Amino acid sequence: MAELVDDKVLLQDKNLIAPCGMNCSLCIAYQFKILDINKQGFHRRYCPGCIPRGENCKHMADACEKLCKGSVRFCIECEDYPCKRLKDLDKRYRTKYHMSMIENLDFIKNNGMDRFLNKEAEKWACPKCGGRICCHNGLCLSCDLDKLLVNRKYRWEEESEENNG
Ligand SMILES: [Zn+2]
Repeated sequence: MAELVDDKVLLQDKNLIAPCGMNCSLCIAYQFKILDINKQGFHRRYCPGCIPRGENCKHMADACEKLCKGSVRFCIECEDYPCKRLKDLDKRYRTKYHMSMIENLDFIKNNGMDRFLNKEAEKWACPKCGGRICCHNGLCLSCDLDKLLVNRKYRWEEESEENNG
């Protein structure tokens, strides 16, 4: 498997795993940036990913001194792991976005980053184009952007009303 991915891509993918266990490559703000989707009439914030942006962790840093200072790379290195804030975040993402930060971090801890990245690549691959599904809406933004154009709050096949993150 390893020879499928060159080192530069691997490094880039590693940098897209945020300290909280979020895979930034699945995030709507990252995918919008990569695909420059605001060209299609949207006005969303673009984000290159928590680590590339240099803010360590969007979800947690404002409430965590260690993340704020960058003194841990991942929350699993912390003696308080998993803290209440991470558990709350994890619950929100499990409920709404079909993923779990804590599951991700535990997998990285037990199996290593390379295996995690392989697993993620399989789990989130678009069956049509091989691109990445976005965890915030369950869509491949290359293949299924029409659904988002019709309903900008589209989320995981739900008839959505108030989806405020
Ligand atoms: Zn696709």
